[in-house]
Amino acid sequence: MIYTIKGCVCERPNVPSHVSPSHRYLPPVLSPRSQLSLPSVSCTPHCMEPSEDKQLQRIDSLPSADLASSSSNASPILTTEDSRSTSSSGDISSTSGSSGEIPTTILTETTALIVPKDVDLPTEEELPVAVTVRQKCVGRNNKGLSWGVKSVIGRRKEMEDAVAVIPGFMSRSCEDVGGCTARGSRTSVEVSPVHFFGVYDGHGGSQVAEFCKERMHQVIAEQWVNETVDHGYEWQSMWKAALSSGFERLDNELSTDAVAPEMVGSTAVVVILSGCQIIASNCGDSRAVLCRGAQTIPLTIDQKPDRPDELMRIEGEGGKVINWNGARVFGVLAMSRAIGDRYLRPWIIPVPEVTFMARTEEDECLILASDGLWDVMSKEEVGELACRILRRWRRSSTTDDKLPAQAVADYLTEIAYSRNSSDNISIIVVDLKSRKKRKHLKQ
Ligand SMILES: [Zn+2]
Repeated sequence: MIYTIKGCVCERPNVPSHVSPSHRYLPPVLSPRSQLSLPSVSCTPHCMEPSEDKQLQRIDSLPSADLASSSSNASPILTTEDSRSTSSSGDISSTSGSSGEIPTTILTETTALIVPKDVDLPTEEELPVAVTVRQKCVGRNNKGLSWGVKSVIGRRKEMEDAVAVIPGFMSRSCEDVGGCTARGSRTSVEVSPVHFFGVYDGHGGSQVAEFCKERMHQVIAEQWVNETVDHGYEWQSMWKAALSSGFERLDNELSTDAVAPEMVGSTAVVVILSGCQIIASNCGDSRAVLCRGAQTIPLTIDQKPDRPDELMRIEGEGGKVINWNGARVFGVLAMSRAIGDRYLRPWIIPVPEVTFMARTEEDECLILASDGLWDVMSKEEVGELACRILRRWRRSSTTDDKLPAQAVADYLTEIAYSRNSSDNISIIVVDLKSRKKRKHLKQ
């Protein structure tokens, strides 16, 4: 059962003795959704079209540098100082330079099978039903990919979000890594980069989120190799094992105060992209979605303390979920899994949920974001806006303009802020249409 608390702090129920009594029971760093007075967000695409179109016109007509100052409340959100871009690691450091692109190498793709004349081809009836053999991986050699990143402090006093984009964090053939949907194709056996994207939304401090940003991709790559050597499982099991053991190992590395105090934690949403697969793993309430055609498909499910399976797990371990500005573990933490937060073991666990999605030609983009975005925008709304901006930007942009994915990240950030998002806002947009395909789109 979920306990509900009304009234003041002194009425709080008993919490386990090892939960520090000095802990703030409603830490200001947590972001109870219910505390926010959110504008009502309509998920109906049609009713939002007029204003959205106006905004899109505006964004199109502005030189990109003006976007910062165009924010409605003349707020400093997009100034260099406040936007505190997410990474000092060079690849995504400056505000507008936070996007990136992997150069496309020219691929000579065979588009037709050459069949010797004297070979009898099977008639349609003779072919097994599921013989659709792709001739190339959906993402080709997984190069020619671009992305945009925006990470801003927003209305918070502290920046506790962190993001990581590590193109080519591993190099493997599509067949090796992703469970290639193009078996037998040439690109599926070529060694190609596998990309890593992570959004970490810290609470209680930024230490754990920062640590995840620096370490998560390394740990996962190492664990993947270990799993392959030790077990040689089927590819999905291997990835699940690598991600689970990677999250656990990272969490163990945080077990001393030298790295992070015990009451600091972070969400972690990580997406790994191979030529044919999208592998998403998640702890907490940051989210990843895939925009495919007109659909916006969630790749993660929030782990909230009132999710029935999570509630059962927490209570099974003797924990309590208390409704205090939303369901919270012991009235404190508004998510049921996280990295760090070792004062809330064993109820808060660093175990990720992992999902797999085969890429298709209809895939437009991936969006990973902290709840600074999702608190004020529905996934449908985010997906629809992202696709519109991408398509428009791809049609009109020249090589000097910012990347379409960066335009989306900037615009979504601006919208979230203008809707009074009270949290840090961090967004990664991955454009899944390669440059080559984009050229086709223009024709
Ligand atoms: Zn493939």
